[in-house]
Amino acid sequence: GNVLLGGGSGFIGKHLTSLLTSKGYNVTIISRMPGASRISWTDLQTKGLPESTTAVINLAGQNVMDFTQRWTTGFKQNVFNSRVKTTASLAEAIAKAPKRPKVFVAISGVGAYKPNDKEYTESSILENFDFFSKLCIEWEKAACLPKEVTDCRQVIIRSGVVLGRDGGMIKQLYLPFFLGLGGPVGSGMQYMPWIHIDDLTRLILFSIENNVEGVYNGVAPTPATNKEFSNAFAGALSRPAIFPVPKFVFNALLSEERANMITKGQKVLPQRYQEAGFTYNFPNITVACQDLVQKKA
Ligand code: NDP
Repeated sequence: GNVLLGGGSGFIGKHLTSLLTSKGYNVTIISRMPGASRISWTDLQTKGLPESTTAVINLAGQNVMDFTQRWTTGFKQNVFNSRVKTTASLAEAIAKAPKRPKVFVAISGVGAYKPNDKEYTESSILENFDFFSKLCIEWEKAACLPKEVTDCRQVIIRSGVVLGRDGGMIKQLYLPFFLGLGGPVGSGMQYMPWIHIDDLTRLILFSIENNVEGVYNGVAPTPATNKEFSNAFAGALSRPAIFPVPKFVFNALLSEERANMITKGQKVLPQRYQEAGFTYNFPNITVACQDLVQKKA
């Protein structure tokens, strides 16, 4: 099949491209930077989907955890538009395509769920309570194909924190934890919905190849708290995790709205993927962290 992949140059996108290529798929990336096997967002808007596209995936989005960027109105607008507008452009191109792809997979986040004592599954009701929940709601709305499009399956994956050696959170935590300076955030009692990068890319492949439709939580089946994660990661590096970082440090450095992603968390279960028969390679945090540490950067 021919896959069109928005944001394919990023952390998740690169891993997904190598998995898809190894399975015999052709991958065309949509990127702001020109290159081989790439098209631009303007190409998409003016020319539509490349001919014989069989699956469309969107992983584009300005990196929220780019700590060199202050949490300003302008930056938040970039964070919002880079997700919602790219997703909307893809939905529009699919609706207009003379020959529809079989499936559209769009990513969203667990930030859709309000951090509290609840256990969340895909059937939980979403509330618009902050910037990130609003973003997720709009992002998922943008992914919805018009009602008259009945020949393209639609999958939305609400992803947890993606754990991989070469990107996302682990890339930033590796050095402090390696130096033995790692520890939980605040009390560490907050949940940290997580998934190993290999399982997330396998979930996307599973969504392309199986007859699944609707919203799916892209998280591991065994939830972990921030403290359990810190202990597992430090343990895999044979280091202690004894330096808790107080919440106010994150609030001061990142601004509270963004810091909440780390200092608060929600317990999320992947009920629908489990019901669909997906099996995880990295179901628990200890095994996942051991794998991350063994991999070369
Ligand atoms: P990356 O930051 O590594 O890559 C995202 C890609 O998006 C980039 O390669 C870039 O492609 C494109 N992009 C960045 N900024 C913009 C912009 N302003 N306008 C258009 N495109 C832009 O992200 P990840 O791979 O880590 O994540 C992919 C998606 O998954 C994101 O939407 C993210 O929110 C979501 N997600 C990630 C999680 C994680 O833990 N990593 C957790 C939950 C959700 P180019 O430069 O080629 O245009």
